[in-house]
Amino acid sequence: MASQRHVTVGGVQIGGGAPVAVQTMTKTETANLAATMAQIRTVADAGADLVRVAVPRDKDVEALKTIVEESPIPVIADIHFNHTLALKSIDAGAHCIRLNPGNIGGPEKVAEVADKARAAGTPMRIGVNSGSLPKHLHTLERENPVEALVTAGVEFVQLMERLEFTDFKVSIKSTNVPYTIAANRLLSERIPYPLHLGITEAGTRWSGSLKSAVGLGTLLADGIGDTIRISLSTFHAEEEVKVAWEILKALKLRERGPVLIACPTCGRLQFDMDTVVAEIEERLRQYEDPIEVAVLGCAVNGIGEASHADFGITGAKNEGLIFAHGKPIRKVPQDELVDALFTEIDRSIDRGAVVVDEHEAAEGAEWLEKIEEENAGEMTPERIAAMEAAAATEGNGESLPMAGAPKAKRITLGEEESPTAGRRFTRA
Ligand code: SF4
Repeated sequence: MASQRHVTVGGVQIGGGAPVAVQTMTKTETANLAATMAQIRTVADAGADLVRVAVPRDKDVEALKTIVEESPIPVIADIHFNHTLALKSIDAGAHCIRLNPGNIGGPEKVAEVADKARAAGTPMRIGVNSGSLPKHLHTLERENPVEALVTAGVEFVQLMERLEFTDFKVSIKSTNVPYTIAANRLLSERIPYPLHLGITEAGTRWSGSLKSAVGLGTLLADGIGDTIRISLSTFHAEEEVKVAWEILKALKLRERGPVLIACPTCGRLQFDMDTVVAEIEERLRQYEDPIEVAVLGCAVNGIGEASHADFGITGAKNEGLIFAHGKPIRKVPQDELVDALFTEIDRSIDRGAVVVDEHEAAEGAEWLEKIEEENAGEMTPERIAAMEAAAATEGNGESLPMAGAPKAKRITLGEEESPTAGRRFTRA
């Protein structure tokens, strides 16, 4: 369940129904001011709401003062083992202190940090990872790792409450995705405090992003989690931010910039869609509006499932079509498709509406209709999906191959019969 309480980190509310905050951690030596500030600006540009910096030495605390002053987003000081550094970080103006109450030297030292944080109005993130559970939970960890993680989290919460410090969020993380999901589900039922979600040491950009999307996405879809950090093995912290945003956008929890949708391609593809999609994705990064752009590998299905997109292109061998909100705008030579798409997007942003030339739109519609008619019998993935849906609705699985076939002139199931058999797309 969603957290009832919230904390405010440098003006960013976390929990209590606030939008899920995106955070990341710098990978620079914090004391290297130029490098750290450059990375903070980069992650802020990428959409980070908060940034965490490691503070393992006195020289990092020194740098922290300037970082807090110059950072465009609130700064969290990440402390392990040394409560003195936590005290100094509060003095340095950190907007939040992250610490593991189990490795900071005992309850007295936690109390010292809590007292100072309370006086300064500095919130904390407390929590534990699966690799650093307190000793007395090691037996339980072997028997029930999820319960051990949750117990550690609840014990830390109780410790902070005894210290009369409640301005905190909580994290319990594991490298194991199912454990992270199960533990956070349980914890969210047992405590009212905001939850920080993450998968510890998730991995590389590819595998780490997927693990995080599965783990964090599952929890967020249930309304659990108030701030997220994607941990990736890359020096480029902005990549973590981009992945976090994709997860939030996919779940429709937050909006930021354009959404690109693209067909998976198949043997009907008639142009180099890999290159085209990559170019469109790159160019869309310059836009802030949450426009939805679709790329279809062929016009065989018409605009079909992309008809809800704000803009889209669908290609054929020599020509392609620009469309908007399910309506053709104009056809253009295939190698001009991407530029023409962005011309239309820019024009519509400038004028606040899609600009349609009736003559060009009619030409485009005619072109599209011709391709649809020529390929009416093609068993495309989209048509098969439509037929399956129709068959399921009718409750007649046996008639599936014929049921609901859109505009079917003939059914071409074999490669020999297919009008597109043997066709190859041409690379630009
Ligand atoms: S049939 Fe569908 S998946 Fe295949 S290229 Fe055309 S739009 Fe893409």
